[in-house]
Amino acid sequence: MSIKVQSVRGMNDLLPSETHWWQAMERAIHHVAAIYGYEEIRLPLLERTELFKRSIGEETDIVEKEMYTFLDNRGDSLTLRPEATASCVRACIQHGLINRSKARLWYMGPMFRYERPQKGRYRQFHQFGIEAFGWTTPDIDAEIILVAHALWQQLNIAEHAQLEINSIGTPEARQRFRADLVSYFGNYRDSLDQDSQRRLVTNPLRILDSKNPNMQEIIEEAPVMTDYLDSESAARFDRLCNLLASQDIGFTINHRLVRGLDYYTDTVFEWTTNLLGAQNAICGGGRYDGLVELLGGGPIPGAGFAMGLERLIEVLRQSNYDAELARPQVYVCTLGSDAEVEGLNLAQELRAEGIRTTVHCGGGKLSQQLKNADRASAVLGVIIGADEITSRTAIVKSLRTDAEQQSVVRSEIVETIQGMLHSKQ
Ligand code: AMP
Repeated sequence: MSIKVQSVRGMNDLLPSETHWWQAMERAIHHVAAIYGYEEIRLPLLERTELFKRSIGEETDIVEKEMYTFLDNRGDSLTLRPEATASCVRACIQHGLINRSKARLWYMGPMFRYERPQKGRYRQFHQFGIEAFGWTTPDIDAEIILVAHALWQQLNIAEHAQLEINSIGTPEARQRFRADLVSYFGNYRDSLDQDSQRRLVTNPLRILDSKNPNMQEIIEEAPVMTDYLDSESAARFDRLCNLLASQDIGFTINHRLVRGLDYYTDTVFEWTTNLLGAQNAICGGGRYDGLVELLGGGPIPGAGFAMGLERLIEVLRQSNYDAELARPQVYVCTLGSDAEVEGLNLAQELRAEGIRTTVHCGGGKLSQQLKNADRASAVLGVIIGADEITSRTAIVKSLRTDAEQQSVVRSEIVETIQGMLHSKQ
């Protein structure tokens, strides 16, 4: 027997038993993006390595140790995208999408990071993200947060999503903050864990992000970014808070929130959930005013977010979201060849009305067919046998309630079924 080939660790198949969750979530994403006026952009999975090094930052975890990078046949260094903001900016510059006009864009698809796989953390995972280019004002920061919130509402999980926001100011302000952090943490060098000692040199802001309980006391006393904000950044942050409050979006200000990517400026935010364990971040984003220029475009500001779809699916499961599943609303059982044709006709009429309909295939006894209907979790069963062909009727039966089955004349079946589905019979 030959050895079975397995999938790559941390890269998961999405099986039919879960894809209905994905489809429901994707429908909600399409809907929310459309009602907020965002347009879809589709980007390649592979980019030049340099794109991520320059944008995300050489000294970030992602670039230092998490990228899938390889040389192609010509010797060019390519990387499977670990996130899509950089690709999106690259595409916008390359195709002149944002030179003269503003743009609201969204994308969805797989990302790749060589992390240690665990629950909620995979090597291939999916993100939905939006990016808004061309606005310097905090109204757009509020808008992108509203888009995420609209999605939580659409998926019925708003009560499980908590928002934290912060301002990390301009690069100049951050430079001053960084210098003070280095000297503060430098005083505690021996008490810092290994990660933080490394970050003291490479990326001291990330020490504030440390989840290590032994580090919390030191972190608590560290300088706070808010004290370094210039008046413009402080006013912008105030305005954002006011706008969010005006729309009844609850949030907490977390002065320690810094995010792991270098390109952020001013606003940063993160949505977490109480329904997941350690990997509880479901969406992160912020403003990145210097990124377009850094990647060779004009001085065009940007803001956006990315959300992790595997984690979102897990939240949906935990919150018992009714994904309408893949389950049929109507299951059509037929007995005999004339009934089979009539069953097909009826199914096409129901489908034309948008009703999810499965026709029993493979024949067999009625009891067996009904058992299949039940197993498929259909709401209603329709039975057509020889008698029904003669009388031009069909039997309609609720599979979820004890209601009596009824014989309905053929011309009224679609309407009857619509009515029953509407009243959730
Ligand atoms: P980031 O691009 O790191 O800000 O991540 C944005 C979101 O993507 C996070 O809030 C997570 O929901 C999700 N995410 C990031 N890394 C992973 C991963 N390795 N596996 C699954 N989801 C992830």
